[in-house]
Amino acid sequence: MNTDNRIIGTYTGESKGPLLLVFGGMHGNEPAGVKALETLFPLLEKEPEDNPDFVFKGRIIGIRGNLKALNARKRFIKKDLNRQWIPENIQRVKSSPLALLDAEDQELLELITLIENEITEYQPQKLIVLDLHTTTAHGGIFSVVTDERDSLDIGVELHAPVVRGLLSGIQGTTLHYFCGDNFDFPVTSVCFESGQHDDPQSVENAIAGIINCMRTIGCVQADHVENKHDKRLQEYSENLPKVTQLLYCHPIREGDNFKMHPGYKNFQRISKGDLLASDKNGKIFSEQDCLILMPLYQAQGDDGFFLIRSIEI
Ligand SMILES: [Zn+2]
Repeated sequence: MNTDNRIIGTYTGESKGPLLLVFGGMHGNEPAGVKALETLFPLLEKEPEDNPDFVFKGRIIGIRGNLKALNARKRFIKKDLNRQWIPENIQRVKSSPLALLDAEDQELLELITLIENEITEYQPQKLIVLDLHTTTAHGGIFSVVTDERDSLDIGVELHAPVVRGLLSGIQGTTLHYFCGDNFDFPVTSVCFESGQHDDPQSVENAIAGIINCMRTIGCVQADHVENKHDKRLQEYSENLPKVTQLLYCHPIREGDNFKMHPGYKNFQRISKGDLLASDKNGKIFSEQDCLILMPLYQAQGDDGFFLIRSIEI
């Protein structure tokens, strides 16, 4: 994995279309998205040679998220970059002297400057952000969507379980920021969790996720997309719920000494009374029958686990 540059690749179609920004490594210990983008751009460059009918509408840009943390192979250096996307915070880093900015402030400033320049340059009618992540736990891929219909549609078409309501438990993620409220043209975002941090399959799943997203938003035609990408994600999520809703998020405060009970996987079914974790106040049991998501098995992180339930849409 190369971490020299912020931009992994840019591909511009001959006809105008959406601007798709794909982030990899917003968390530095999650290189799968970066590796997926490093694989994707050479494939896109080669595609017109292999397939003369290939048409691409719009522009896709692959972007490395937290460069310093990627180099250090850590989730973050000072603070979680995926909790900093708050308009007032962005104003603060833009107006502060560089010397006063910590590692993630600098990352945020570089990213926002790059993104604003790309928007000015391409003048898209629509901006879509796909933010690629992985989890510490094994057991399934999923997408996190906003409350907007467009975001849900992209999430559903990724052919992985969609998790709704996750954003209400946390703040300052890319999904909170990249929405219609903060821009004067249509903006939609989706987060794709492509598997466990170090599983090589997570890179393949992320590639499939990006290609599915390009199809859903109309960058590429459906009949130009090999259905192995659909198949791959469908097989991976075969026994998982299609759409789920957040029930509970367990925040971790400094000094909590939070420890997740070992062995939980994403989407594992749990019962009322199951031992989930422990902290300085004692044992933490589930208060309901539900599914568990993102149980935390690493030292850095603000959220211990999420509880979700399956819903119909
Ligand atoms: Zn992440």
